[in-house]
Amino acid sequence: MFTIDDITGTLINYYATCRREAWLYARHIHADQSDDAITMGRVLADIRDKGQDFPFSHLHFDKLEKRGGHYLITEHKKTMSNPEAAKAQLLFYMYLLRTGLKLKKIDGKVISGKTVIFVEGSDEVFEELEMMLAELVRFVQTPSPPPYEKTKWCKGCAYKSYCEG
Ligand code: SF4
Repeated sequence: MFTIDDITGTLINYYATCRREAWLYARHIHADQSDDAITMGRVLADIRDKGQDFPFSHLHFDKLEKRGGHYLITEHKKTMSNPEAAKAQLLFYMYLLRTGLKLKKIDGKVISGKTVIFVEGSDEVFEELEMMLAELVRFVQTPSPPPYEKTKWCKGCAYKSYCEG
């Protein structure tokens, strides 16, 4: 059974982008492995995992630093087609670090090219995230995915062979 512990940053990103994509991914229905974006993402993740000795090394962010008693995590993205999804993914990593390491205050930053997005780790946003995580667990347990609806994300989606006729 799918539980909150099965949620990953990638799933959060998909959930914020397309519910159908998130459902397929959570059910281990694999995207087109020849898709360039998927291949690049996997290679980068492998490189980063091998280079880290941090206990949370399964989380795919690039840097954790301490600034004036606060923690700041930074993630560099090669591309950022959906800033809201990137923010949600980083917030999830912040949440895991905050709860796992019992941090009082943690903020985050996503950088892609010249775009920098600051993600503040307030109590309110973590409460909203917790509600979203509970909702996500219920969503994944639904017996079938939401129907295909064409969106601006479909063009670059590795799951499009599961959707477009
Ligand atoms: S092709 Fe479109 S509807 Fe289908 S999973 Fe991808 S983004 Fe979602």
